[in-house]
Amino acid sequence: MSEVRGEKAHSVVGASSASRFIACPGSVALSGHVGPGPSSVYADEGTAAHELGENCLLFGEDAEDRIGEIIEGKERSFEVDAEMAEAVQVYVDFVKGKLKACRKALAPHPGSNQPRSQPHHDPILRLEYHVDLSWLRSGMFGTADTILIGGTELLVADYKHGQGVAVEVKDNPQLRYYALGPAKDFPAITHVTMAIVQPRAIHPDGPIRSDRMSRAALMKWAEEELGPAVDRTREPNAPRAAGDHCRWCSALAVCPEALAKAQEDAALDFTEVELDFDKPADLVTTDIETLSKILAAKDFITKYLDAVAALARRRLDSGEGFPGWKLVRGKSRRKWSNEEGAFKYLKKQGIARTELVTEKSVSPAQAEKILAKHTKDRKMKKVVKEELAEYWEKPPGSPRMVPEDQAGESLDTSKSPDVPEGEFGLVETETNETEEESIF
Ligand code: SF4
Repeated sequence: MSEVRGEKAHSVVGASSASRFIACPGSVALSGHVGPGPSSVYADEGTAAHELGENCLLFGEDAEDRIGEIIEGKERSFEVDAEMAEAVQVYVDFVKGKLKACRKALAPHPGSNQPRSQPHHDPILRLEYHVDLSWLRSGMFGTADTILIGGTELLVADYKHGQGVAVEVKDNPQLRYYALGPAKDFPAITHVTMAIVQPRAIHPDGPIRSDRMSRAALMKWAEEELGPAVDRTREPNAPRAAGDHCRWCSALAVCPEALAKAQEDAALDFTEVELDFDKPADLVTTDIETLSKILAAKDFITKYLDAVAALARRRLDSGEGFPGWKLVRGKSRRKWSNEEGAFKYLKKQGIARTELVTEKSVSPAQAEKILAKHTKDRKMKKVVKEELAEYWEKPPGSPRMVPEDQAGESLDTSKSPDVPEGEFGLVETETNETEEESIF
C-alpha cells in the first residue's frame, strides 16, 4: 500500500492523511485512483523550510546563516529569505532548547553515584525519524521531523510552515501516528509529548503547542481507533464522508460526496433566505441567522470550486481539454527589453536618470537579509540585529473574520482592534490522564 514519489516512498495511510482517512475511509481508494496531483507552491515551500530546519540542527547553524541559499523543492526551488529563516529558527531554537533542558534534567547530581547505564540516560535526538507502524497494520509508515528521548519521556516535534490554517495539537492523529513509531521502538518510554511548531500561523496558544499522554493511552488509541480506521479504508466500497478534512484530499474535484455537500451547502441555505429587494434593510434584520449559515458554508464551497478550477487548468495545460473552457492570453504589461539603452536615449532627450529611477526603502526583514550577507561574524551579527530592532516595530495584525468555534481570542471591537500576539512558549493543552511531570 505504498507509492513512490520522487525518491521518497509515501504511504497512502500515512500520518499526514490520518485525519482524512479516519473521517473518510473511502478517500484512500478515490485519491489513489486520481493520483497525487501536482505539488502546490505552499507544499514545496514547506519542504524547503523543513530541509532548512534539518540542516540547521544537523550542522549547528542558525537559519539566517543560510539566507540566500537555494533549496530544491519537489517542483520548484526556493531561496531562503529572512521570513523563512525567522520561522525555521523558532523550530531550531525549540529543539535545541528541549535538548539542553533534557540533558540538564538527566545529568546526575554532582556527587551522586547514580550509574550512567540506565536506559536512555543520555538524550537521544533523531531528525527525520522513520516511523514504521507495520506492527499495527501493513503499509503504515512515515517520517517524523524530530524525536527526542530523555529517560522515559519522548518528545515528537512537528514543524509546520503553513500560515493559512493553524493546526490544533490536541488529539491530533498525525502527531500520535508519529509518536507511535518511537514509542514502540523504545520500550522504556512511558510518556509522550507531541508538539507542533507553527510560527507563521496565528493561534491563541502561540506558535508552539503541545499535548501529552501516556504510552499506554497512545497504544490503546492505536489499537482501538487508528488500526480499525485503516481496516475501514481497505473494505470494498469503503464509505466516503465529506467535511473539513476534504481540503487536503486530492480527489476533492471529482468526489461525488464533496459535490453533494457543496450543493447542499449552497442550495439549501440560499433557498432559505427570504430576500426582499425593496427593503434591503430587512435582509439584515430578519435573515441574519440564515446569512450566518451561508457564510459558514463559504469555506467548503470555495475550496471545492478551487479544486475543480485547478483540475480544469491541469487538463487545459496538458492539452486534454475541459468542456466549455479554453486558455487565452492574460493581460500583459510593457517592460524594458534594454533598460540601459532606453535610459541613454531618454538622457539624450533631456531626462535625468533621477527622474527615471525611483528610490524605495527595504523592509526590516530585507535589511536583515542584507545584514546577514555583510556581517559574517555570528556574535556581531546578533548584536547588530538586536540594535537594529530599536528601529522597527511590528504593528498588530489586521482583524480577520473566522468561524466562532475556530481558535483565536475574540477581539473587542469597542476597543482598538489589537490582535493578541502568542508567546513563544510551550503551551500545554489539557493533558490526558497522567499527572506525572514531563521533562519536556
Ligand atoms: S473529497 Fe472528501 S468526501 Fe471525497 S473522498 Fe476526499 S475526503 Fe472523502
